[in-house]
Amino acid sequence: TAALIETDALIIGAGPVGLFQAFQLGLLEISCHLVDALPRAGGQCVALYGDKPIYDIPGTPVTTGRGLADSLLQQIAPFKPQFHFAEQVATLDRQDDGRLLLGTSRGSSFLCKTVFIAAGVGAFVPRRIAVDGIERLEGSRLFYHPDALERFAGQSVIVHGGDDAALEAALALASLAKTVTLLHRRDVFQAEDATIAAVRERIAAGTIRLQVGQPAGFDDTQLQVATPDAQTVSLPFDALIACLGISPRLGPIADWGLALERKQVPVDTEKYETRERGIFAVGDINTYPGKKKLIVCGFHEATLAAWGAAAVVFPGKSIPLQYTTTSTRLHALLGVA
Ligand code: FAD
Repeated sequence: TAALIETDALIIGAGPVGLFQAFQLGLLEISCHLVDALPRAGGQCVALYGDKPIYDIPGTPVTTGRGLADSLLQQIAPFKPQFHFAEQVATLDRQDDGRLLLGTSRGSSFLCKTVFIAAGVGAFVPRRIAVDGIERLEGSRLFYHPDALERFAGQSVIVHGGDDAALEAALALASLAKTVTLLHRRDVFQAEDATIAAVRERIAAGTIRLQVGQPAGFDDTQLQVATPDAQTVSLPFDALIACLGISPRLGPIADWGLALERKQVPVDTEKYETRERGIFAVGDINTYPGKKKLIVCGFHEATLAAWGAAAVVFPGKSIPLQYTTTSTRLHALLGVA
């Protein structure tokens, strides 16, 4: 379904810096939409280290990757930012009137005055199974990192992978699906000890079947698996769940004429604007002298980029700096008046 959405600002990436960008824009009364290739907010913090502690967020002695993302979502909630998940921004073109038209992998279009590239190390996309034609099954019988497992109740499910995500899916399905086969290239898992122990118990009890090997082909009902001893085993399946990890792809950002330096977008350090007016880059994706890929630095960049955008969205208007502590205008915006 193609839709054209007009907005003051589009934020590419809902990692910690993209989320805080929405906050700073909200304080300046600039409305925004956020697009992320992942099915949820949080970027690296959630995708790569959701449960790990993080100690260098100002004023927060300790939280986790997921805890930080949750706090940021709570903080920006008053501004009602609109999220578009599981969509990758693919194209960016300047219009005759100076506005920017962006298109996504799902066919959405955004017409905006300003763009914030908060794309981190690139769009996180799941690693795919390398079997010819298997992409035809995506969404019907093949699922990469599915969010919910209820739909697999009563089915014969193959879970492909050997990390925490794969093992946790297999465990959850053991009491839900008709059969669960865990398919991994070797009989060794890379996951938390307790998770591995729980899976080993189910394998011993026969509620999870272990198949060592790699997908090699498929037909309407079966997955062919090549085993390490060069045999082919056919596994009947209703659904194949693949958790082979996610890897970042810089993707189309490289084609937008932003003169990348070693896959980073160069910006000034006054407004964190790229060489293109109205296009800002914040967080891990940008580069400038002294750049450090830290969340706290991204928060500062997002703050100044929002002020840079205010000059584009409200040309000629002078906007005084106000404190959230004391400004009744900001209190009203935050809904705390
Ligand atoms: P990201 O978190 O990378 O988010 C970018 C988002 O943009 C992603 O969700 C991606 O899917 C999306 N995206 C990219 N391109 C597109 C596109 N074209 N269309 C749609 N979506 C797109 N930093 C600290 O300050 N302290 C720490 O203790 C710390 N620990 C870390 C531990 C680990 C294991 C790792 C890997 C990193 C750690 N970092 C730490 C670094 C920190 O996570 C990053 O600096 C931070 O995540 C950068 O935030 P970001 O919003 O710029 O990008």
